[in-house]
Amino acid sequence: MNNQVFQQVLNALAERRRQNEKEEARRRDEAVARCPEIGEIMEARRNAVMASVYSAFSAPAEENLAGKVEEWNGRIRQLLCRNGFAADYLDPVFTCPLCGDTGYTGSGKKELCSCARGLYASLMDKESSFEDEQTFERFDLSRFPDDKPVDRKGRTQRGQMAVFRDYCRSFADALPHPAKKTLLFYGGSGLGKTYLLRCIHARAQERDIPALCITANQLIRTARKSVFSREQEDMDALYETDLLLIDDLGTEPMIEGVTVEELFNILNERQNAGLCTVISTNLTLENLQVRYNERFISRLLNRQTCQSLHFDGIDIRQL
Ligand SMILES: [Zn+2]
Repeated sequence: MNNQVFQQVLNALAERRRQNEKEEARRRDEAVARCPEIGEIMEARRNAVMASVYSAFSAPAEENLAGKVEEWNGRIRQLLCRNGFAADYLDPVFTCPLCGDTGYTGSGKKELCSCARGLYASLMDKESSFEDEQTFERFDLSRFPDDKPVDRKGRTQRGQMAVFRDYCRSFADALPHPAKKTLLFYGGSGLGKTYLLRCIHARAQERDIPALCITANQLIRTARKSVFSREQEDMDALYETDLLLIDDLGTEPMIEGVTVEELFNILNERQNAGLCTVISTNLTLENLQVRYNERFISRLLNRQTCQSLHFDGIDIRQL
């Protein structure tokens, strides 16, 4: 882990929480302005909780405080609905419901949340992409070590990258009808997967092939937003564009009923429509199987329609 970049992740999370707290306060003011009774109940609730904290050591605590709070909460929900708000309008606002924007999940042994890992990866990418334009022309093979074999075919990292680059270039030149329409890049970070993804994107744009490049994290956020707002436009574009490039599969938050379902639907419908999709991931095939469901994996690894490239070697950002 790069400490400086990790600090940026923590700063971004802190900023997220500040923004969300601001939004919570704004909602509170809005709701109380429309229905003052909500404000009165919140006040009563706060006083009761505070009183029980102060009296905990001296006097017997308020009888059944939890029940009372529950009752107040129910009443607030009722009033919210009656005044045209959603019942959960005053619930805490989280960008990532998995970790509540703390960046960590789990209670005992804390683990870095997938949202924090996603932030970290995309910041690392920015850090390492010193060329602003990532194209096949600028692709520099000499950055990859050529000293020892890294894969089963006995290729060095540079030799492997030369093959992958040529394959991706032919793929991009054959758009919108390459032999295999789904590409999967998998392997550790810093091996050039994102770079090649962007080269394909750049070549497609050069050739006026409609193409969209998105991280899996952005994709799931877009999906979630469209569920809430019922606006399908952004999602439709992901279903319909000739070429869709999804970077960093596996760093998106796992939202029940959204993540796995949406990813499967996109891949499935695109394949049925004969559209091209390129996906990169740091996960191993085994981890992909564990994280996603069987239907998605069998779509992704179907040998007839799908080419997977296994990136081997060492992180060139650490050289
Ligand atoms: Zn999170």
